[in-house]
Amino acid sequence: MSYDIKKVEAKWQEFWEKEGVYHFDFNSDKPVYSIDNPPRYASGRLHIGHAVHYTHIDFIARYRRMRGYNVFFPLCFDVNGMPIEVNVEKKYGIRMRETDRHEFVKLCEEFAGANIGEMTRQYRILGESMDPTIYYQTDAPYYRRITQMTFVEMFNKGLVYKAEHPVNWCPRCGTAIADAEIEYAERKTYLNYVRFRVKETGEDLIIATTRPELLCTCQLVAVHPEDERYAALVGKTAVVPIYGQEVKIVADEAVDPEFGTGAVMICSVGDKGDLEWIYKYGLKFIKGIDEEGRMTEIAGKYAGMTVEEAKRAIVEDLEREGLLIKREEIEQTVGTCWRCHTPIEFIQKEQWFIRIMDLKDEVRRAADEIRWFPEFMKKRLEDWIDSLQWDWVVSRQRYFATPIPVWECAECGHVVVPSIEQLKAMDGHVDPTVDPPPVPSCPKCGGGLKGCEDVFDTWVDSSISPLYNTFWMRDDEKFRWLYPMSLRPQAHDIIRTWAFYTILRCKAITGEIPWRDIFIDGFILGPDGRPMHASWGNVVDPLEIIDKYGADPFRYFATQCTLGEDTAFRYKDVVRGQRLVTKIWNIGRFVGGVIDARMEIKPEKLRLADRWILSKYARVLKEVTELLDGYRYDRAVKILENFLWREFADHYIEMVKHRAAHDEGAKMTLYTVALGLIKCFAPFLPHVTEEVYQSFFREHEGAKSIHISEWPSLEFADREAERLGEEVKEVIAAIRRWKAEKGIALNAPIGTVRIATSMPEAIEGGLDDIKGTVHAESVEIIEAREIEERVVEYRPNFSVAGPALRGSMRKLVEFLESTPPDEVERALEEGFAIDGVAVTREMLVPVRRKTYRGMEMEALETEHSLILIG
Ligand SMILES: [Zn+2]
Ligand SMILES: [Zn+2]
Repeated sequence: MSYDIKKVEAKWQEFWEKEGVYHFDFNSDKPVYSIDNPPRYASGRLHIGHAVHYTHIDFIARYRRMRGYNVFFPLCFDVNGMPIEVNVEKKYGIRMRETDRHEFVKLCEEFAGANIGEMTRQYRILGESMDPTIYYQTDAPYYRRITQMTFVEMFNKGLVYKAEHPVNWCPRCGTAIADAEIEYAERKTYLNYVRFRVKETGEDLIIATTRPELLCTCQLVAVHPEDERYAALVGKTAVVPIYGQEVKIVADEAVDPEFGTGAVMICSVGDKGDLEWIYKYGLKFIKGIDEEGRMTEIAGKYAGMTVEEAKRAIVEDLEREGLLIKREEIEQTVGTCWRCHTPIEFIQKEQWFIRIMDLKDEVRRAADEIRWFPEFMKKRLEDWIDSLQWDWVVSRQRYFATPIPVWECAECGHVVVPSIEQLKAMDGHVDPTVDPPPVPSCPKCGGGLKGCEDVFDTWVDSSISPLYNTFWMRDDEKFRWLYPMSLRPQAHDIIRTWAFYTILRCKAITGEIPWRDIFIDGFILGPDGRPMHASWGNVVDPLEIIDKYGADPFRYFATQCTLGEDTAFRYKDVVRGQRLVTKIWNIGRFVGGVIDARMEIKPEKLRLADRWILSKYARVLKEVTELLDGYRYDRAVKILENFLWREFADHYIEMVKHRAAHDEGAKMTLYTVALGLIKCFAPFLPHVTEEVYQSFFREHEGAKSIHISEWPSLEFADREAERLGEEVKEVIAAIRRWKAEKGIALNAPIGTVRIATSMPEAIEGGLDDIKGTVHAESVEIIEAREIEERVVEYRPNFSVAGPALRGSMRKLVEFLESTPPDEVERALEEGFAIDGVAVTREMLVPVRRKTYRGMEMEALETEHSLILIG
C-alpha cells in the first residue's frame, strides 16, 4: 500500500466538511477557545505569505480542539475599500468617479464574490479548519450595521468629530488616507537654489527647496538663531520670487543650518512639518494644491497644472529669469499612497475624525493586559502610540465601503445620527446617500438634512471584528459568554493599524480588552531571502507547491517558521515534510499490523525497552504541550520529529520488531506511542494523521476524526529505565552499525555476542531485545578482566615512514606482511634498518585486537560497554 497523497488529502477534506468536524457548537458546555481570525482581504488569490500565516493559525485551532475546547474559528473575508475599487477600475477599464456610484459598488461586490469563492477553495486545499457556519464578510449589511453601531456609540461618547484639517491626501485615489497607510519611499529629486530678495537691503537671500511649485504659498522664511551668516537678516522681510509676496524672516531652533543654504521657506502646507510652523507663527492655511493634485488659483499661471507639471514649468521660468542659482540631485524620503504609490499631498479638507490622541494611555494600559507572543512585538505598538500626532481620519471619499451614518443640517451644520435602537431594528445598515434621515428635519433649526456621502476607512470595519464575532448588540447573553476572545493572530505589518485600532475601539466601547492573547506572525520571503516580487522572479505559488508535493508537506514548511520572524521559503523543507509524511504512514502501517484491540499500559507487562521509550515519550508530550500553549509550534515540531525519527522509529521499533507480534508489553507500548505521536502531529499534518487514525485506530478508539479526538497525555516517569534503556539502544546501534560497515545484512544471523559492561542491569534488562534485534545466536555478559588485548599486526605509518624511506617503502610493507607481530616487536627493540635507514616506532601503526579466552574477537565500544562478536 503506497501513500497516494493527492487522493488521501482530497478524501479527508471532503469528509471533514461533510461531517462538520470544525463546527463551533453554541450548545456545548466545553470551554471556548475563540480566534479573531483575520478576515482575508478579498482582492485576489492567496499568496504564500497568506497560505503560511493561515496555516499557523490553523495549527492553534486544531490543537485547541484536541485539547477539549469548543473552538470558534470563523471563515471570514474583508470586502471593503480601495484595493477592490482599484482592481475593478483596472479590470473594466473604468474610473470610479465617472461611473454611477451604485453601479460601481455592484461591480465591486461581484469582483470580491468571485475571489471569495476561489479563496475558500484554496483554504480547503491547504487543509485549514475554519468554520463556515460562523461565516462573515465585512461588506455584508449585517456586518456594516455593527460597524455603524460602533461609530454611533463612539459618536455618543464624544469620541467623533468633524473638522477642517489638513489630511494626507492621495490625488490619484482622490481620498484622505490615514498616517498608517502611508508608505515611505526613497526618491531622487532636485534641490533648487532659488534667489529671494531682502526688501530692506536689496541683497540676495538664497533658499534651497525641493518644492519650488509651492512658492505661491510661502509665508515665512526661517534661519537658525546661531547661524551667523544670517544674523543681520532676522526681523527683516524677504520678497518671494515670481509671486512677489513679502514674508518675515525669523530665527527658529527647528531650522537645520546644514541643509541647503541654512535658510528655509515655510509654506502651507507642504508636509506635516509645516503644520507646526503654521500653529506656532499663526500663519494662514493656503491651499496651493487641490484634491486632484492640481495647482489652485493662487498658483497664478500654473493653476490647473499637476504638481509635477507646475514644478517643471516654474523651474524653467526661474532659470530664464536668472533666479535659479543651481540644482542638486538628492535622495529624499517621500510619503506615498500605500495603494497606488502616488506621492501624497497634505491638503485642507473637511473630514470625520475619531479621537485617538485622548485614548493613547488607555490603549497602552490595555496592551499591557494582553499577552503578546512574541513579547517584543508589544514594543512596536508602544512606539507607534508614542509617535502618533493626529487623530484618526476615518472618512474616505470613495464608494465601496461602509457609509458613514450621519446627516447634516444644510442651515446650521447640526449633525444627526441614527440611534442604536433604530439600527438594531434594521435588517441591514443605513446608507445616507439613499435612505431618509432618522428625523425629517434639523431638530435645532428645522433646516433640511443632507446625507453624508463619505464612507469609512476599511479599518473602521475590521477593527470591530471581536465585537461582531461575539454578538455585541445582537445577543447579550452570547456576548457575555464570548467576549473577550481568546486570541488575535495577525501579521506584524498591521500592528499599527489592525491591532491598534481594534484595541482602541473595543476598549472604548466595552471597557475591556478585545482578546487575552495576541500572536504576531512574520513574513515569508523568497527562496533567495528577499521579499517576493514578480520582477525578481522569486515568487512561490503555494498552490503549485501543493499540487506537486501535497498540502501536508507544504504545511510542514510552515512548522519551520518561528513566530514573529520572517522566513525564507525553502523547497528542501517541503521535501523533508514529504519524507516525514511517508515515515508517519509507514509507522502507522507497521503498528497497525501488530495491534488488534484498544490497549492501555499495564506496567507489569513492560520490559526495559518499553519503559525506556514510554518514559521518554511522556516527557516529550509534556514539553510539546507546554510549547503549544505558548504558540511555539516550531520548537514543538522539532522535538516531535526528533523523537519520532531518532528514538521511536530508528531504535524502539527496531528493538521490538522481533517480539511485537506476540508480546503484550511491546504491543501496548507501540499502540500508545504511535497513537500519541500521530495525534501530536495532527494539527500540523492533518491529512496523513487522519489516514493513519482512520485506517488503524478508529475502530479501537471510536472518535469520528482524529481532529476531535483527545490530546494525548501519559503519566509515566521512569528515570532509571531511561538511563538503562539508553545503553541498550547504544549497544544495539553499535552492532547494527558494524553489520552495515561489514556489508552484513541487518537480519543475517551472527554468533555469540559477549558484553563486558559497567551497566550490567541495562544489559540484563535488554538481553532478549539485543539478541532478537541483532539476530545473535546468544548474548552473554562477561567480566571485563576476561578480555585481553594484543597487537595482531603492524602496518606502516605512511606519513612518517614514506618520507624517511623514500624509494624503499615497498620493502617495509613486505617485511611487515611476512613477519609475525611479536617478531616485529623484538626487531623494534633491537633496532633494524631498511636500505640503511633505521626503522622507528613512529613509522609503524600497531593493530590491536581483543581476545576472549584466547579467541580473537571483533570488538565494539559504547561509553559503558565493550562488545565482542565472534
Ligand atoms: Zn492612491
Ligand atoms: Zn439646523
